[in-house]
Amino acid sequence: MIIKPKVRGFVCVTAHPTGCAAHVQEQIDFVKAQGPIKNGPRNALIIGASTGYGLGSRIAAAFGSGAKTLGVFFERPSEEGRPATPGWYNSIAFTNAARAAGLFAANINGDAFSDDIKKQALEIIARDMGPIDLVVYSLASPRRTHPRTGVVHKSTLQPLGAPYTNKTVDTDKGIVSDVTIPPADEAGVADTVAVMGGEDWEMWMQALADAKLLAPGATAMAYSYIGPSHTWPIYKDGTIGRAKIDLERAARAIDANLKAHGNGRAFISVNKALVTQASSAIPVVPLYISIVYKVMKEMGIHEGCAEQMQRLFATQLYNGNSPKFDSEGRVRIDDWEMRADVQAKVAEIWPQVTTENLPQLTDIAGYRTEFLKLFGFGLPGVNYDADVEPHVPLT
Ligand code: NAD
Repeated sequence: MIIKPKVRGFVCVTAHPTGCAAHVQEQIDFVKAQGPIKNGPRNALIIGASTGYGLGSRIAAAFGSGAKTLGVFFERPSEEGRPATPGWYNSIAFTNAARAAGLFAANINGDAFSDDIKKQALEIIARDMGPIDLVVYSLASPRRTHPRTGVVHKSTLQPLGAPYTNKTVDTDKGIVSDVTIPPADEAGVADTVAVMGGEDWEMWMQALADAKLLAPGATAMAYSYIGPSHTWPIYKDGTIGRAKIDLERAARAIDANLKAHGNGRAFISVNKALVTQASSAIPVVPLYISIVYKVMKEMGIHEGCAEQMQRLFATQLYNGNSPKFDSEGRVRIDDWEMRADVQAKVAEIWPQVTTENLPQLTDIAGYRTEFLKLFGFGLPGVNYDADVEPHVPLT
């Protein structure tokens, strides 16, 4: 089958197996080129391991520190004549590369919010891995079926209190326009907190603790975003921001438990805004990303998921280093994005952007390249005119 990109709004409904493998390999090569991350994780559980920041974390743990990894994710598998979602191919590529390097890698494709998937994970950890010393919680999901109540909660990306109007870009068509997003009601906030807040992370940690599968001194980490004030009404001060406040609450609760049992630690790492499947769905944010990419590339400080996670592991978590917490107890690997000179430049460009000058004032071209790469398209060395088998098993 010849597989070409089919972009529909902010998703691409096809994915290329060879291209996804090349994308994963790029990230592995980057991490390996930075050299070993000493005193790193030995046994890592990555929840949300197939794309974006979770995949970057898994690569840093495995190829930086030689960790055994168990990856949990929720991807549509391939079928005869139908490509999978990219995280399926990414996970196959990661697993093949890890095993070729002599590293243990296991995968669970299923709903991480469910009791059943947690049980499956505990079985693999007990049987094949031993106690976990790093838990990375990197889920980005539009919905969660609550394992106790059966209620399906849907997360939203909305402001609170009042409608929010700002510039946005249709990244596919290159059209800049104003968008107005109505505010969420309290039920919308509660649903978003139920999906993207910290309860499920706590359930994972409790399940591991109950099964005595947490190593003494274990680290648990989840990811958040803050960004500049242009995006606050839709992000930090919106429904997702409320969920992130709950994630921080969970981090404090998990931290207290881990400290009481073997001097472990739990915290939130605030990461850089990057093109991922999750971030491309947020109004306004893709325009911000296109601008900040331009500014950071011009300054020579642009990073992708692997670069961010390698730097997080190497300079904050391991290698003899300790996390440098902000006043709220968060690690800030968004430090370069939030530098005053970067944000001053973004603030200067933001009001000037129009459909006409979008290619000059922003890195919309880089945005599109990165977006297509998420689905395995546009990778150097991949022949996209060649026949490729879409149906690949995950072992
Ligand atoms: P992503 O869409 O690339 O990855 C989401 C992952 O979650 C995938 O592995 C997916 O398979 C998995 N997943 C989703 N629902 C699941 C379910 N029910 N069960 C099991 N797995 C499931 O997203 P991302 O951008 O890497 O986001 C990960 C985290 O990083 C989120 O907490 C996000 O808020 C945070 N973050 C993202 C950015 C950004 O700009 N992308 C910036 C800072 C922080």
